[in-house]
Amino acid sequence: MEDGMTTSSSFIEGRGWLFCRGCLGNDLFSALDFGELPIANELLLSQESKIDRFPLHLRVCVDCGLGQVADVVTPERIFRDYRYESSTSTTFLQHAWDFVEARVQEGTVSQGDWVLEIASNDGYLLKNFLPHGIRVIGVEPAENIAEISRGLGIETISEFFSSEIATNLLSKHGHPKLIIANNVMAHVPDLVDFLKGLALLSGQETQITIENPSLANILVGMQFDTIYHEHYSYLSASAVAQVSKVHGLQLFKVEELPIHGGSNRYWLRKFVEGGSIDKSVSKIIEFEVALKLFDPMEWKSYSSRVSVVVNEFLKLLQSAKKEGRKIFGYGAAAKASTLLNMLGVEEGFIQAIGDASQEKQARFMPPYGIRIISPQELFLENPTDIVIFPWNIKFEIVNFLRSNLGNNVRLWCVIPELHEV
Ligand SMILES: [Zn+2]
Repeated sequence: MEDGMTTSSSFIEGRGWLFCRGCLGNDLFSALDFGELPIANELLLSQESKIDRFPLHLRVCVDCGLGQVADVVTPERIFRDYRYESSTSTTFLQHAWDFVEARVQEGTVSQGDWVLEIASNDGYLLKNFLPHGIRVIGVEPAENIAEISRGLGIETISEFFSSEIATNLLSKHGHPKLIIANNVMAHVPDLVDFLKGLALLSGQETQITIENPSLANILVGMQFDTIYHEHYSYLSASAVAQVSKVHGLQLFKVEELPIHGGSNRYWLRKFVEGGSIDKSVSKIIEFEVALKLFDPMEWKSYSSRVSVVVNEFLKLLQSAKKEGRKIFGYGAAAKASTLLNMLGVEEGFIQAIGDASQEKQARFMPPYGIRIISPQELFLENPTDIVIFPWNIKFEIVNFLRSNLGNNVRLWCVIPELHEV
């Protein structure tokens, strides 16, 4: 067994799935099979580093609608040295600030309450509560990133959230008023224990808010590049309602957000008999069914559409190379890795990828050790073409590149289909 591989109780090599991560049902259909890909966020230390590849296959549970990939890679390998810092994007910073201000204004939390954030990253969100006199605790397993958040005065526990952590927090601090779990449920291999932890911490007044890109957007928005080993689960309102019910939690509201190319914000609380449920819940669940989100035939036709997009991208790279154009990438995000590795070629089409994160610079991205350089180095290269990989912050990046390179450079985006920006 390779380093970092795990034998999950839900997946057995050669036999496949035994049961769904969310509802423990055993009826899952194949939605999109990528074959074997490298771990998307695992950048190489040198161009010659060995690249490990693992199976990546999206399946959807017939019973609860949860999309999922097998946890063939341990969270320890993926998240202990995670290089995604939320604070490198102004879009995310603004989004976090808006969220906190709204909760304070509407009185969801006030002075004297405490707020828990699971996967608190570098403290980009929790820090906004501090000026309001609200106590915060973050849970962030990546030690290197938790340290940054402690520097901001945020108490941060460097562990993976679990029912055990929940029990400890409850005995020390009582029920929090608000639990925030943004972009984390997807990363949890043991979803049952995670939900158990949320339920344990939920008192009569606790609200839980969960933001996560929706499975619906993968289908409708051709966002197949957001599927990678780190994302074990792909949520929908239908799935969240079903899997949380088992733990005595109730989905009472869903908001649709533009961030990350379309996320849902799910609001949960302890089950209340006769508690009012916002009409947004049934509205989104009906929409998901109408999309055929849980229909194997729809996913079959989706797979063909994905192949077309990937081939168009390959043709662009081939013709750029033939014409001697200098084609670069921008944004060494996990999305970039999924997309580049789907091409199935190991040639140096993309000369280097610019990225503002210092953590990423001087590292290399599979499949062929593509150099990651600073934006300043990128500008000095005088690129003719740049492919923007993080399409979710496309306009922020376009403005940045245009203001430094002018209008002569051609900017491309591959999702939802290849187009010039
Ligand atoms: Zn299920």
